[in-house]
Amino acid sequence: MERSDFIRGLVSMSLMTSLFPLRSLESLAAGASTERMPLLFVGHGSPMNAIEDNRFTRNWRQMAQKLPKPTAILCISAHWETRGSWVTGMDQPKTIHDFGGFPKALFDTQYPAPGSLWLAQATQEALKPALVGADEEQWGLDHGTWSILKPMFPDADVPVVQLSLDRNLNGEGHYRLAQSLKSLRRKGVLIIGSGNMVHNLRLLQPLGGNMNAEHALGWAREAGELFNKLIRERRHSELTNFRNLGSAAQLAIPTPEHFLPLLYVLALQEKDEEAEFFNDQYVAGSLNMTSLLFGQD
Ligand code: ZN
Repeated sequence: MERSDFIRGLVSMSLMTSLFPLRSLESLAAGASTERMPLLFVGHGSPMNAIEDNRFTRNWRQMAQKLPKPTAILCISAHWETRGSWVTGMDQPKTIHDFGGFPKALFDTQYPAPGSLWLAQATQEALKPALVGADEEQWGLDHGTWSILKPMFPDADVPVVQLSLDRNLNGEGHYRLAQSLKSLRRKGVLIIGSGNMVHNLRLLQPLGGNMNAEHALGWAREAGELFNKLIRERRHSELTNFRNLGSAAQLAIPTPEHFLPLLYVLALQEKDEEAEFFNDQYVAGSLNMTSLLFGQD
């Protein structure tokens, strides 16, 4: 998103603020205090997971069934990178098919979850003094969000807002920003980071063309095991400085966008919360599907 979009976003943001009192009933219901909601990082992998029934999507569904029903979902997806931070600020975000070379059935798939102007504004408020624009028309739900939510919440009845990844921030900057989202967990908001910790598309080796066949290159497993160890030992500062984690990690993170959503989730981990790992498997040689749940017994 370029500068002119950012300025338009500021205008949208003030418009939204002025319209907000009309929505006070929604905001009362949506902003009520709740128990602390769990946190999720989901390794999303192939977009086909949106419509396939496989071991990963079955685990996503089971995971979602264990969770308290969220008031709304805030998703940080690898697939929305911008200059400055943005939230989706539309009532009905469109389903974005941001990929190529997949079957028509995937392009025909819609995920018609409503947006939440309440959560868009609550996210803007929580992140102050950082200035977060509200995008009312350009984005929507990209496949980093809907490919996991469709299996998890197939009825599309939970409102969804996306928060973009600001390209101007480094790992520490993303981690610090994310810490400000803490209060949303006590307002019924399920915060999800959607990416992949090990994600190198250039070195993909799908066995027999199957993107989900189990297969790990040596460096991919080495990097994944290092990330898991650092997560278990809560060594977050080493994870935020992922460029210093050695050559296997560099191959796992050739570009940062699939790794950064993990930092949002780790930044919100509280002292009494342990990481529960699921889908901790390697596919196509250079990807892992490793996912984390915090705060759910
Ligand atoms: Zn992706």
